Amino acid sequence: MITENLKSIEERIQQACDRSGRKRSDVKLICVTKTKPIPMLQEAYDDGQRDFGENKVQEIQNKLPQLPDDINWHMIGHLQRNKVKFLIGNVKMIHSVDNGALAETISRLSCEHGIVTPVLIEVNVAGEDSKFGVHPADTESLIRAIAPLPGIRVKGLMTIAPYTDDPETNRPYFRALRELSIDIDKKNIDNIEICELSMGMTGDFEVAVEEGATFIRVGTGIFGERDYKQTDDHTNNNK
Ligand SMILES: *Cc1c(COP(=O)(O)O)cnc(C)c1O
Repeated sequence: MITENLKSIEERIQQACDRSGRKRSDVKLICVTKTKPIPMLQEAYDDGQRDFGENKVQEIQNKLPQLPDDINWHMIGHLQRNKVKFLIGNVKMIHSVDNGALAETISRLSCEHGIVTPVLIEVNVAGEDSKFGVHPADTESLIRAIAPLPGIRVKGLMTIAPYTDDPETNRPYFRALRELSIDIDKKNIDNIEICELSMGMTGDFEVAVEEGATFIRVGTGIFGERDYKQTDDHTNNNK
């Protein structure tokens, strides 16, 4: 099932790239593996996938030692400062930075490790009360405040668009995130190059690609529905 699903997702990404005149190599697929068991991750790995997304530190901690070490792990979920430590040196990118205190913690622990951790700023572009993320109007000032931190490098913006049956309703949000990233990049803030846009999930990734996504995060479309009854997470990453 996973192999066929990946094939069909791949075709749809390619078609969205063709429609919007983008190169397939400019869009990275992150397989969102939260709640899914190791054999399913291994199957995606055997199909050539190397970028996996999880929304809980504990789950990355459990899965990482059981899988090949050339996987790029992406932390895509809400993150508390006291959980950061394990991620440093173990994840490729943290997509969910939305406050200065969290950025400082990531920076400090990265410096202790002698590395720089790439991060994205999570923006609540639709202004939903239920979502984490910085307000669009506060994004530039957050980036300015954390830009000097030596242990992080802000690479771009991330958003979780509203759940919808009609992906077109999310196009304005994806477009707004891209415009915000262009505006901020133009300010030439020291140490900052906003080039990545992490947006689009199973229900709306084609629209996100058309609007400039460089990372799309697809779970259900690859691995099937999640069963939250088996975990204590009924929140699906919302507040
Ligand atoms: C779960 C999750 C996804 C994947 O959602 P699907 O609809 O299953 O593709 C993407 N991004 C984040 C932040 C998530 O928590």
